[in-house]
Amino acid sequence: MIYIVIFLFATTLTSFFTLIGMRIPHGESINGRSYCDRCEMPVPWYGLIPVFGYFILKGKCRHCKQKINPLYPAIEFFAGLLFALSYLYLQDNVIEYVIVSVFYALMIIVSVSDLHYRIVPDKILLVFLPALLISRIFFPLTLWYYSVLGGVFGFLFMWFMAWYGKKRFKQEALGGGDIKLYFLIGVFLEIHLVFLSLFFASLVGLIFGKFIMKKTNYIPFVPFIFAGSLMAYFIGPYLLNWYLGLLT
Ligand SMILES: [Zn+2]
Repeated sequence: MIYIVIFLFATTLTSFFTLIGMRIPHGESINGRSYCDRCEMPVPWYGLIPVFGYFILKGKCRHCKQKINPLYPAIEFFAGLLFALSYLYLQDNVIEYVIVSVFYALMIIVSVSDLHYRIVPDKILLVFLPALLISRIFFPLTLWYYSVLGGVFGFLFMWFMAWYGKKRFKQEALGGGDIKLYFLIGVFLEIHLVFLSLFFASLVGLIFGKFIMKKTNYIPFVPFIFAGSLMAYFIGPYLLNWYLGLLT
């Protein structure tokens, strides 16, 4: 029962995060009602219901029949699932669950901005940085300064990759937003997991780029960074223990 409540609550929150991710880069207010991109008519209340609203509207605007991107109900659905499953995993540690939820909020917002506008807004990073830093210093996964080190090294490593990529391929592969975002991810994951997350992110991105997105030039990297961070967070500790076990 609690999982269903979390799922429904999280899908509602996620539709709000999606709104933030779409409006902040425009400098638009986040208070106004949702409206259609094309005819600018407001979306009726039943269209605002997370996940289901899309199906009630049959995937298009009621006025101008403009198709609604099915990506949004999909994001809401999977985010709801993610919040519920994470609670299943972390229910004995409510503080950690709250920190993880803050991290998810950040990653959902910047993923939407990246998918939509190809940018990671500084404003969002500035809001989430103190929240993640303070919570990790007081409630670290390992040692408090590992979060600071994770941030610094995550940032430096991404910066180096961007510099090297630019030199090697003569085009910008990683944006400044991705590099700054990695400071926050490093703070959340701490130094022992931050490099693992980059490895997973590159792996997922590579597979996706090779088999699914052949035709487009631009691959938004933030959703892959999110996937890589999740893998590092949930699988990483087991992987590191297993690896360290091999050494002793
Ligand atoms: Zn419309």
